[in-house]
Amino acid sequence: MSTSFEQLQIAQTYLDKLKELGIGEPTPIQTEAIPVLKQGSDAIIQSQTGTGKTLAYLLPALEQIDPTQKQLQVLVVVPTRELGMQIMQEIEKLTAGGPIRSQSLIGGAAVVRQVEKLRLHPHIVVGTPGRLLELMKIKKLTLHHVKIGVIDEVDQVFELGSMQDVEAVLKGMLKSSQKVFVSATIPQSTEQAAGRWLKEPVIIKINPSQRTAETLEHLYVVCQEREKIDTLRRLVRLIKPKSAIVFINVTDDIAQVVAKLQYVGLSIEALYGEASKQDRAKVMGSFRDGKFQLLLATDVAARGLDIEGVTHVFHLDPATNAEYYLHRVGRTGRMGREGTTISIVTPKEQFILDKFEKQLGITIAPKAMYEGRLVDPAQDRSAAAMRSRREAARPREAAAVRTSAASMDAREVSAAPAKPAAPKHTAAGGKAVSKAQRERDRKSKGAPRWLKEKQQNKE
Ligand code: ADP
Ligand code: MG
Repeated sequence: MSTSFEQLQIAQTYLDKLKELGIGEPTPIQTEAIPVLKQGSDAIIQSQTGTGKTLAYLLPALEQIDPTQKQLQVLVVVPTRELGMQIMQEIEKLTAGGPIRSQSLIGGAAVVRQVEKLRLHPHIVVGTPGRLLELMKIKKLTLHHVKIGVIDEVDQVFELGSMQDVEAVLKGMLKSSQKVFVSATIPQSTEQAAGRWLKEPVIIKINPSQRTAETLEHLYVVCQEREKIDTLRRLVRLIKPKSAIVFINVTDDIAQVVAKLQYVGLSIEALYGEASKQDRAKVMGSFRDGKFQLLLATDVAARGLDIEGVTHVFHLDPATNAEYYLHRVGRTGRMGREGTTISIVTPKEQFILDKFEKQLGITIAPKAMYEGRLVDPAQDRSAAAMRSRREAARPREAAAVRTSAASMDAREVSAAPAKPAAPKHTAAGGKAVSKAQRERDRKSKGAPRWLKEKQQNKE
């Protein structure tokens, strides 16, 4: 029989809150981690994305707080603003109506206001390393009374070039304080850091061989680099995901990418690293509320985010490595729900997926779009072959197909089946052509050159 939160000896106030939140049974990582953290051991908590790691550390951490003491007793360090806000919301839900005060100390927000609010003596703080350190330096924040310090998405926190900041934060806590590192991925470099900062840590790993959720379907489609945006557009049209995240690698031109995607008619907004706190919060809020369909994000921005209703994750660029892939796809298929992830790769990028398959023990299946369906490329190839045989019998149309095929590789053709052009001399066909032409002209009006060229290529 599975363990209950009662058996884990969670305090009654939190049992009540969990019930209100509709959370019934603890997940495996919660069952394992909660007793260890309650004992006061240092720990590394590692389990797949979407398995409930946040509550696994928040519940035992909150229980250590003595609300009669006006001191900071729990610190949660996070890599990004968005994750910080998400965790703050979780804390607020668990502590609503009670005496525990929480505060976020996240970069990008006004320091003055944070300093002012610190006078209220929060019991629990969620912060990013840079801002925490800044406040420590000006002596507005002391970590001496912290009983438990948690670093969530620890590998990312260490990786973000703020190593010195994190180490300074860790040094700010007493040696005797309890420290916990959390992530779905603990690379060797993080393990080494753990060796330096944790005292005989208990390593809590759930199912380490199963690295991504079993409920996830991994797919890919192949196209040329210049076709990627259009391929994404067509995939979205075909799949109609309620809510999806689109990943890209570079942040420099995120504005340009989002503009292109919006131009082709996608309902998409981007999570910009450099945008103001308010803008980022607004984008996240609207996305959570389902006000637009796709969120364009980078790996850093989306780490740890738990957004209800995300059914698909698209990769406009393949992930940089297997760990990044795992965190990207982990934005869907959470808590046993189904999820699909589709990498859009060029023929030259296919080898990257082969590597992920081996490293993660998963299968990433090739797909192509054909007649409004996602099909196996083989199936599609035979359909394409049949089509071209059919078309070969009709000289006028075959010429049109060849022109389009000339600019694409074989898979391209199958991914973008060129419809035989309607013969111009029939009345119905004439109407169709002119209507299509009108539509194209309308869409091309003011289009950037790359898009016009692309549309011409499609003819
Ligand atoms: P992780 O950090 O492992 O990626 P999260 O802590 O973000 O996962 O949790 C994923 C989702 O599951 C959240 O929406 C959370 O509220 C929910 N959740 C957490 N624990 C439970 C539970 N025991 N039962 C049901 N849902 C849970
Ligand atoms: Mg998490």
